[in-house]
Parts: sequence; structure tokens; C-alpha cells
Amino acid sequence: MRTPIIAGNWKMNKLTADAVALAEGLNAQLSEFSGVEVVVSPVATVLSAVASSLEGSAIEVSGQNCYHAESGAYTGELSPQMLKDAGATWTIIGHSERRQIFGENDALLNEKLKFALASGLKVMFCIGETLEEREGGTMGAVLTRQLVDGLAGLSDADFENVVVAYEPVWAIGTGVVATPQQAEDAHAFSRNVVKENFNATIADGLRIQYGGSVKADNAAELLGQANVDGALVGGAALDAEGFAAIVRAAL
Ligand code: PEP
Repeated sequence: MRTPIIAGNWKMNKLTADAVALAEGLNAQLSEFSGVEVVVSPVATVLSAVASSLEGSAIEVSGQNCYHAESGAYTGELSPQMLKDAGATWTIIGHSERRQIFGENDALLNEKLKFALASGLKVMFCIGETLEEREGGTMGAVLTRQLVDGLAGLSDADFENVVVAYEPVWAIGTGVVATPQQAEDAHAFSRNVVKENFNATIADGLRIQYGGSVKADNAAELLGQANVDGALVGGAALDAEGFAAIVRAAL
């Protein structure tokens, strides 16, 4: 059985007071839950404050990105060690906004993934096709490349600390959610890619989150699909009640 994982990506939102209030609100909403892993991913400047306010709760904290070096002349970057120092146990890597706006490619993301894992962080590794790729018939090739190149070189043990987030780019922040069947098809396809390129045990155990306009009112149906093991939530994660409702939909 794969434990569902619901994560909130707060993106570049919230100053300290609002971020801590959101964390406290979530903690109050989710004071008692089991059987689902819950993670929040605040902006780096408030990570430490959010982690402190969630101390003692079962809600884990994640970075949104990190570089593949521990320290040094990389102006503007953050290392996994710095995320851990601030209280994170997870990081997101390869979000489509990183790929599209900041030009991060599969080779770079693979370096980041391997370094984050070697540094002791767990990773939500994002993949997903654009609308053009889906409509142009290259979706399978794109997902295969992102998985094969992105996960290259990982050991069986590494996979215990990796979750894949399937996030179709056309569904992120657009209000257009994939149908449960579209999500299930892409997840089943991705799991099969992992099976063929790694092995069946890794593929069976790998959790695959869906991301893209997940809300309280569509979460249950998406999470009810056989290969959908959780959600990576953007906009709806900025509201404690709405996010808590998504977590409850996974129970
Ligand atoms: C995301 O940013 O990972 C995301 C899925 O955003 P939204 O839920 O707002 O579509």
C-alpha cells in the first residue's frame, strides 16, 4: 500500500506573519489525522518560521527548489543543507515554473535531485506535458524523457525518498483540472515507464501525486484513481480550510 501524500506549494506568496498564520490554521484543522502524509512548501524566507510553528505536529515542511552544491559562489541559490537547517525535510524539484520560467532542463534537474537526496532531503520531483505537447501527440515521449533523464542514476534506496508529481502544465493555476481518467492514464503510463527503466518493485512502491487545479471539490475523485497517490496543490493550499478538506479527501 502506498501512503497518500498531500503537499501544498505556496509558491512566491506570503510574508512571515501570514505564512505562520496559515501554518497555525492548518495545524488547528489537521490536529488529528493519520494514514496520509502532509507537507507544506513555503517560500524560503519564511521556512524557518513555518517549521517552528509546526514543530511537534505531523505536518512536514518542504523547500520549493534547491541547488546541487552545499555552499559557495552561487549567488541567489539555496543548498539542501540550508533548507534542512531551516527545518525542511523535503524539497520540490523540477516544478514546471522552474522548467519554463527559469529554463531548468532534465540534466540540471537530475543533478539537483541526486544532490538533494544525497544530502538527506526527500524530494517531490515534478513532471508534466504542455497543452501543445499533449495535443501534438508527444506527451508520452515528454513524460518518458522527464522520468528517464530526471531519475537517471538513482539507486533503489534513493527511490524510497522520491515522490513523482505529475503536473500537466495546462492544468497548473488555470482552473482547468485534468479529468480523473486523464490523471489516471498519465500516472499509469508514468509508473510503467519507471517499471521498464528501473524495476517493478520500485514502480509499485513509487508514489505519484497529481497536481493542477486540485481543489476540495475535485480532490476525492482524483485521489480515488488507482494510480493517484496524492496531490501537489498550489492555489488551494493558501487557504487552511480548503487544504485541510483536500487532506481529508485522501483519508
Ligand atoms: C502547483 O503549483 O504545483 C499547482 C498544482 O498549482 P495549482 O494547484 O494552483 O494549479
